[in-house]
Amino acid sequence: MTTQHGAAGAAAGPYAGPMQEWNLTLDRMLEHAARWHGDRELVSRRADGSLERSTWGATYDRARRFSSVLLAAGIRVGDRVATLAMNSSRHVETWYGIMGIGAVCHTLNPRLFDADLAYIVNHAKDRWIVADPVFAPIVAKLLAKCPSIERVVFLDHAGGMPAGWTSGAVVTSCYETLVESHAPDAPWGQFDERTPAGLCYTSGTTGHPKGVLYTHRSNYLHTCMQLQADCCGYQQRDVILPVVPMFHANAWGVPFACAAVGAKMVMPGPKLDGQSIYELLEGERVTTSAAVPTVWQVLLDYLDKQQLRLTTLKRVMIGGSACPPALMRAFRDLHGVEVGHAWGMTETSPIGTSGALTERALALDPEGRIEVMRAQGRALFGVDIKIVDDDGRRLPHDGQTPGRLMVRGANVVNRYYGDEQREILDGEGFFDTGDVATIDAEGYMRITDRAKDLIKSGGEWISSVEIENLAAGHPSALMAAVIAVPHPKWHERPLLLVRLRPGATATKQEFLDYLRDKVATWWVPDDVVFVDEIPLGATGKIDKKKLRAIYAPAPAPAAG
Ligand code: AMP
Repeated sequence: MTTQHGAAGAAAGPYAGPMQEWNLTLDRMLEHAARWHGDRELVSRRADGSLERSTWGATYDRARRFSSVLLAAGIRVGDRVATLAMNSSRHVETWYGIMGIGAVCHTLNPRLFDADLAYIVNHAKDRWIVADPVFAPIVAKLLAKCPSIERVVFLDHAGGMPAGWTSGAVVTSCYETLVESHAPDAPWGQFDERTPAGLCYTSGTTGHPKGVLYTHRSNYLHTCMQLQADCCGYQQRDVILPVVPMFHANAWGVPFACAAVGAKMVMPGPKLDGQSIYELLEGERVTTSAAVPTVWQVLLDYLDKQQLRLTTLKRVMIGGSACPPALMRAFRDLHGVEVGHAWGMTETSPIGTSGALTERALALDPEGRIEVMRAQGRALFGVDIKIVDDDGRRLPHDGQTPGRLMVRGANVVNRYYGDEQREILDGEGFFDTGDVATIDAEGYMRITDRAKDLIKSGGEWISSVEIENLAAGHPSALMAAVIAVPHPKWHERPLLLVRLRPGATATKQEFLDYLRDKVATWWVPDDVVFVDEIPLGATGKIDKKKLRAIYAPAPAPAAG
């Protein structure tokens, strides 16, 4: 294997400092994985359910071949190449292939509405789309609306095109054919570490989605932060299953962190149901995994119904939305699995805080530890957080006073892509997360709500997250959501929506009584609605915008 960085890994240009300039570029991660962990496996679930096996060595070879494909077709540093794919080793290859030559890997979320996707592709001016064949219908719609797309590449292992595919004027290729016909000799990493590497748009809960343009340096440093023992702490011996999709904030950085330590990586493809995840966890002897709470809820429900136990899993990372304590208890007490609760956002690459137990917290009784783990954790090394009032003044770390959560660090957004003129940091360089949180004396940060989801009742704030977490702990509840509904006297009041476990029954009164001794009287919701489904957004979080539209529509504007 030849390195592309020169003997000392020197940056371009004359530099004669006392220590080496080791450019922090992401291609180094895969190069390292191939050289030192070349036989370690990547296992991917195909759309037809079968498993496909690769290695870090093969991934490196194929990624370099894909880089050759891109270079031969005129893709250059800074050009955007989109991917529209579930987690698989081919998707990992394309990432490194794109980033290795300094092009920008733009991960598209196939669960977004067509109009949002088209907006994002047009905004990014993506030149290529690399897609799973199953997403051919989405690609066809994008081609009609996005003139920047020059080429479509389908990640088809069979070497064919998706059935019924007609591309019109746009060149369409099969990934396997391209990769097989090019050599693994594209030069990698010959650019500055501040070169953009990846582009990811936020879920866009207000206004248009906003683009966060990660650099090689920011993702490299994020990987180092993530590998701290108090965060993910991955090791070579780990077998890691990122359920969180690669289009959701880079699968929380897992594809970089796995390569960096040479862990075995297991990818679920499109199959995220309880049975499929269970089979992968057990069949591949997975030791650690990462996903949003809703995925874990579905898995635990499946295990419960089938009376199954997890035998190899040691630790799960849970984030994206607040982890209900009931979920932590089930993992710990039924399956012996440790839960790591982390907070972050697309704008923070994404991990910002992580909930490892301090020496003091570890000594608490089991319920005391759960109470600590409900918090979203403490700042990772490399990240600085603060809470402030509406005038930007710092608030005390007393675990009581909620304020706007602000964050800064090498992994935090500085400007949104295509909107570089807009200042988004405060005078101290902190980014406003839009979350409301408390911080306690030990530094544990606890999200009380998204600012826009807080419920203002009689001039006081009620945390929807807090009530949801408690309600989800009711034995009959599968999922719970709380939203504000307009109220003539109190301005807003909480409404609880509950999806019951299959076959379970419960009354409204039971839920209200269950909550009554756990929260202040005025926090108890005014009503409970049992629903068949709680809508989830494109990244698997409860879609409160949709719930508000159904259950708390804004009053019609006054006539005249
Ligand atoms: P996204 O950029 O789509 O990943 O969304 C980021 C937002 O998700 C954050 O600003 C939080 O509101 C929410 N979030 C992420 N992790 C957590 C967590 N552990 N607990 C509560 N909310 C979270």
